[in-house]
Amino acid sequence: MIYDVIVVGSGFSAISVTCNLIEQLPASAMVAVVGDDPGFGRGTAYRTELYLHRLNVPAGRMSLKPHRPDDFVDWLKNRGRRLQSGDFASRSDYGLYVRDTLAQLLRRRDGRCRVDFIRAKAAGCVERYNSTLAFHLGNGDEIAGRNVVLCLGVGNANLPVDPTGVPLPMRSRIVENPWRLSWLRRVASSDTVCILGSGLTMIDQVLALRAHGHRGRIDVLSRRGLAPLGHARKPPSPLPIDVASLPGTISGILKSLREKSRLVDDWRGVMDGLRPVTQALWQRLSDMERARFLRHALPWWNIHRHRVAPDVFDRFAKLVSEGTVRFHAGFLKSLGAEKGRLLAGYRVRATHDFAGIRTDWLVNCTGMERAGISHSPLLKEMSRFQLIAADPLGLGIQVDANSEVVAPSGISPARLFAVGALTAGQFWEITAVPDIRVQAKAVVEEIIAQGAAPEA
Ligand SMILES: Cc1cc2nc3c(=O)[nH]c(=O)nc-3n(C[C@H](O)[C@H](O)[C@H](O)COP(=O)(O)OP(=O)(O)OC[C@H]3O[C@@H](n4cnc5c(N)ncnc54)[C@H](O)[C@@H]3O)c2cc1C
Repeated sequence: MIYDVIVVGSGFSAISVTCNLIEQLPASAMVAVVGDDPGFGRGTAYRTELYLHRLNVPAGRMSLKPHRPDDFVDWLKNRGRRLQSGDFASRSDYGLYVRDTLAQLLRRRDGRCRVDFIRAKAAGCVERYNSTLAFHLGNGDEIAGRNVVLCLGVGNANLPVDPTGVPLPMRSRIVENPWRLSWLRRVASSDTVCILGSGLTMIDQVLALRAHGHRGRIDVLSRRGLAPLGHARKPPSPLPIDVASLPGTISGILKSLREKSRLVDDWRGVMDGLRPVTQALWQRLSDMERARFLRHALPWWNIHRHRVAPDVFDRFAKLVSEGTVRFHAGFLKSLGAEKGRLLAGYRVRATHDFAGIRTDWLVNCTGMERAGISHSPLLKEMSRFQLIAADPLGLGIQVDANSEVVAPSGISPARLFAVGALTAGQFWEITAVPDIRVQAKAVVEEIIAQGAAPEA
């Protein structure tokens, strides 16, 4: 059987694309969704069961449907959650909402296209029939499609240094993938924990540790020792920003944004004013300026742009002020063991000095934004067959302004699109729901506009 559309992935992006396909394709169309995640629709972000793991975007901006902004808020109200559009709901509730929305669409039997959900990993991909791409699945099957949408997320970054020098029994105390929260059950209350990376994942892990009764010290090591800032309880109005009036260099843009921040009561108004124009701003930058941004401005961008809910921020700030959480700025250089504990050796930032953190546990929270394609065997194989190419900055894969993959050979057997963080080279801010939902809708419209779906 040849599908009209194959969606590969099982996180938010895949579900968002699938919902749009169900709403827009004729009944005669056939869609396959291939994903290896048992919690279809949740992905890494919304799989958590901990209520304290909150969304970092207010509920009013998390609707799956850009044209119905209150959809998620209404869903929360219908389930007795007393939350308003400016509040920060739990991520587990959001996962339920996404799955519920999909289930509702699937319940509609009349006039909707056929959708086959296949729980499997897409392990390889080849050009099989005329104008189709075929995927080898982990369960031994093969499926082919005329249009493909890759929604693979970007996976977890590897540890920045090789842990093989650590004696084997102790290596089990290095948590390479913190999203499998089962590691928390093995931590004793008084154990010390060292977290690598100081972004949103770090805050999640700290709060999860406390919720599991951990009371020991937590050392956080990152290159600059910066932590995410908080949303305001009363958000300022976004300051409208005209992209055309901004300079074309990163240093010029920063200077201009600092000047604008001085004109408003709260700098968040400037960052929020940038939201709707960030992709346009990124697309105006040369590759050299984009690389400069990643080298020098990225940590500052992340802490100002990707903020946490106000009460999450307060809870975390209290742990820092009490001295439970301590920050270290430096570059991890070695991992070893000493006197029954792990030893993380690092070069102290802006010096030639070396220091070490002795710890019972080491947790990799170095994030995912630079994972590129190396984490995915499927993407590596597609790259070898010249079906995709990494973007010049190694953020993901090369796509055009319509999210269509730019094949290095110039010829693609089927129409191939990507949605989500894999397309950061083209769009930069494309990791969160408010951006992905717009992209997912546009990709489906593009597939339909090209007449790829059969006549009803
Ligand atoms: C902890 C965390 C919290 C976040 N909080 C927010 C938030 O509050 N608000 C917000 O807007 N955004 C948030 N985000 C951003 C989040 O990444 C997006 O909202 C969204 O979940 C991304 O979904 P995705 O489908 O693109 O990627 P993912 O969620 O990573 O899903 C990709 C899926 O594809 C599957 N897959 C990968 N390769 C294959 C293959 N070869 N075959 C089959 N399946 C495959 C994976 O198993 C995975 O399930 C958060 C992210 C994280 C990590």
